[in-house]
Amino acid sequence: MGFASFLGNSGAVNAVRDLLASGRVPGALLFSGPDGVGKKTLAFMLAKALNCERREPAGNDFCGECAACRKVEGMFAAARDDLTWRREIKDAQRRVEGLVYFDVQLVEPITRYILMEQVREVRNVAYARPFELPRRVLIFDQAQAIHWQAADLLLKMLEEPPDTTTFVLVCPNPHELRPTIRSRCLRVQFVQVEESVVSDLLERERQVPKAKRLLAARATAGSVSRARAFNLADFERRRQPWLDFLGSALGRGPRSEVAPDWKALFESTRALTEDRKGLDETLRIGYTLLRDLLLILEGGRESELVNVDLVDRLNSWASELGLAGVETMKAGLDQAYRLQTRNVSQQLGLDALAVDLVAALGREEV
Ligand SMILES: [Zn+2]
Repeated sequence: MGFASFLGNSGAVNAVRDLLASGRVPGALLFSGPDGVGKKTLAFMLAKALNCERREPAGNDFCGECAACRKVEGMFAAARDDLTWRREIKDAQRRVEGLVYFDVQLVEPITRYILMEQVREVRNVAYARPFELPRRVLIFDQAQAIHWQAADLLLKMLEEPPDTTTFVLVCPNPHELRPTIRSRCLRVQFVQVEESVVSDLLERERQVPKAKRLLAARATAGSVSRARAFNLADFERRRQPWLDFLGSALGRGPRSEVAPDWKALFESTRALTEDRKGLDETLRIGYTLLRDLLLILEGGRESELVNVDLVDRLNSWASELGLAGVETMKAGLDQAYRLQTRNVSQQLGLDALAVDLVAALGREEV
């Protein structure tokens, strides 16, 4: 174990390892870049490396096995558990009661925000000597969600970080942070993980067959965590009703006199909304199809398509829909996306989309 087990983003990994080797890890770092590429994981690896008992003075790795490395692992797990149960507490006061921070701490939004109480607790520990480890590492995940009242307090700490403490701010887009906060941190930029790395992972960990690996790699969009959780059968099961939906609305030739198969259309919208809890994922897949159709219409490259196994069908659907049809589809998906958080029949939204789509194609007066 060590940094070699980190997948992708060799630029970011090397930047961190160079800092370790130079012995000059700054008091504040900012890890930014897309979701699911391992920013938080690398922050915890850094915490291990800074504390590893087996690291040589100019070493740039960690063992993952010594008492210190294991302690960091334990602190990480404890922090995650603590955040999980706090998020379930309804009462605002009780939610932040009894916060205890260890030498390596994960700070994440408990509500929509990282709260004042959380940052105060960070300050309480940051300036004291670490309890158990040589170096304290305080990781703020989704740092952009820090409550505005707490941002000043954080800034003060970043301006004068205690000798024994390293702050790591983690966020997708550094420009969502205040410039004053951003400028105090050394930035390490992450990028989407290469298709080949994701593809290898899908083979090794998810046993995705070769023929489907490109589709799976594109569907997980350069994210290691998405790839780790990817379920091909589930993806295809959720995508099928979209194909039925498009297949029933389209494919009868331009300005056809033949009425669309309404029964099949409404059957597909029912199938799409059957699993309410998974609707988010179903809609996400709908958006990949939409994006592919748009890409084709705009003359984009096939190498950028997600649904690479459907190229022929996508091509014919795209030419039939045209930009206006794709626009209608987008409006319908956006509407379904907005409705999903509300307690309404989501099928109604997609039924409306079916009707709009058919009307937009001039198939039938509606
Ligand atoms: Zn170690």
